[in-house]
Amino acid sequence: MCLNPDERKTLVTSVRDLFPRFFEVLMMAENVWPDGARCSVCLTFDLDAEWVFMGNDPGVAEMPRKFSQGEYVWRANLIPRILDLLDAHGVKATFFIVGMNAVNHPDVIQEIASRGHDLATHGWKHENIEGVGKEEETYRLLQTRDAISDASGYHPVGNRTAGGELSPYTHAILVDNGWIYDSSLRGSDMPYRLDNGLVIVPSYYEMDDFHLFADYPGVAPYHARMLSPEVGWEIWSNAFDGYYRYGLCYTTMFHPQIIGKPGNMMLLDRLLNHIKKYPDVWFATAREIAEHWKSVT
Ligand SMILES: [Zn+2]
Repeated sequence: MCLNPDERKTLVTSVRDLFPRFFEVLMMAENVWPDGARCSVCLTFDLDAEWVFMGNDPGVAEMPRKFSQGEYVWRANLIPRILDLLDAHGVKATFFIVGMNAVNHPDVIQEIASRGHDLATHGWKHENIEGVGKEEETYRLLQTRDAISDASGYHPVGNRTAGGELSPYTHAILVDNGWIYDSSLRGSDMPYRLDNGLVIVPSYYEMDDFHLFADYPGVAPYHARMLSPEVGWEIWSNAFDGYYRYGLCYTTMFHPQIIGKPGNMMLLDRLLNHIKKYPDVWFATAREIAEHWKSVT
């Protein structure tokens, strides 16, 4: 059966609405990536810096040692270091940015945009918005978007919730205000659509460098947690092999203060070299994946 793009879109929309679970299996089995690609690779970085702890605990501002672990991003010029590696591999990424980081470091945010990457929202202060109420959550989201736009000239259309759970309003707020994708959920190995049309670009804990290498003494979830880079290599390269085999959406969830460490940059370089040995891999930003998914579903 040979369908034109409009006929195909009508068919998949009908199947999706009638049989949502069957639809997901169908899309996983079918080659759905552009230009015959077998799988997608979506590199994402959460630019949290000092707000990773300070967002839910303002007292961190008075704790020089703890504060400096986020400040490290700026003093050590980690963003240019990461951008240089991405340029060397010729790949574009998505950076989820805390609003206050755009306010305080507009030059860095502007550089990310000027080098061709996708910028997206990641909380105003990396705070938990679960209980703040719909109006306040909307205000903070728009404030974050505007801070990123003011710094870079880039208009974000993607989001990853920071610092806690989503609220009951999050996905409605995103769609009502022009966002096309969210990357907070882990509900599939492929992108998927919510009932309100929002595309979910899934993210995965096994691809989160915090879960492997973040070791912050005195911070309960991240105390004495550091693993060998060889363990990271095994987890991330093995994960890619699986996503490639099954034709899925391989999304990383890196953080500049972790992946930007010198040794971890070597690991990222090694990982990208590994991925590039495979044919038919589509390196794409989260925005490109969301736009593609909207076009085929
Ligand atoms: Zn974060």
